[in-house]
Amino acid sequence: MGILSVKDVNKNFGGLRALSHVNLDVEEGTVHAIIGPNGAGKSTLLNCFVGRLEPDSGSVTFADRSLLGIRPYQINQIGIARVFQTPEIFADLTLIDNVMIPAFAKRDGDFKVNMWRSVANERGVHDKAMAMLEDVGLDMKADQIAGQLSRGDKRRLELAMCLVQEPKLLLLDEPTAGMARADTNNTIDLLKQISRRGITMVVIEHDMHVVFSLADKISVLAQGTVIVEDVPEKIKGNPKVQEAYLGG
Ligand code: ADP
Ligand code: MG
Repeated sequence: MGILSVKDVNKNFGGLRALSHVNLDVEEGTVHAIIGPNGAGKSTLLNCFVGRLEPDSGSVTFADRSLLGIRPYQINQIGIARVFQTPEIFADLTLIDNVMIPAFAKRDGDFKVNMWRSVANERGVHDKAMAMLEDVGLDMKADQIAGQLSRGDKRRLELAMCLVQEPKLLLLDEPTAGMARADTNNTIDLLKQISRRGITMVVIEHDMHVVFSLADKISVLAQGTVIVEDVPEKIKGNPKVQEAYLGG
């Protein structure tokens, strides 16, 4: 069984079957991509990993712990970090503040009360946040306001906010959406570096260049079902996959 394991998950929205008998095993230390046409159920599945949605039936486990009934705020505590489809950053704060906040949230559930006192007292957190900004190439902009960053830089900032929590599993929903090619390639390189540290990744992505550059394993979702799960070389040219995209 993988570090993240999905067994026979079903999810309906009213009469719509968004996920149907979905199985998925993500091996520790690998990059597992989930691809599929629009409306296939990719985001719905990801939401079932982080407590935003509850499957109607089936099981989802992370490191042998059930994720059913977990609340979104508990996810970080157990080692899962998530990058959203649209960047979720504190637009009015500096980059360094943006990275310090999740560091406290991870360490201290009561961070709202203690945060600023701790910021004043604890150099360690500042240094750690700074190191993360360096890792993603944003250390020179640490004191800039996050809202003013380019789209690519906002993505990098979000990754730093994830990495500072030292996650075991990183979930990425379309990490290169809306990026120009140069930014996309930079993001691929950065995600490869993160993967080399041993962090397991689940990536939802439309851009096949990104998928084939990063993924060890690919699951193809179509109309709420996993139609193929295989290594990238075997996904290319698979008639079922081509049909799902053309027919989708
Ligand atoms: P993907 O991310 O693969 O594009 P989604 O998981 O967002 O697909 O959506 C899968 C299906 O479920 C779509 O038909 C979508 O319209 C529907 N859906 C997603 N979220 C909801 C919701 N909260 N309520 C009703 N229908 C939803
Ligand atoms: Mg989606």
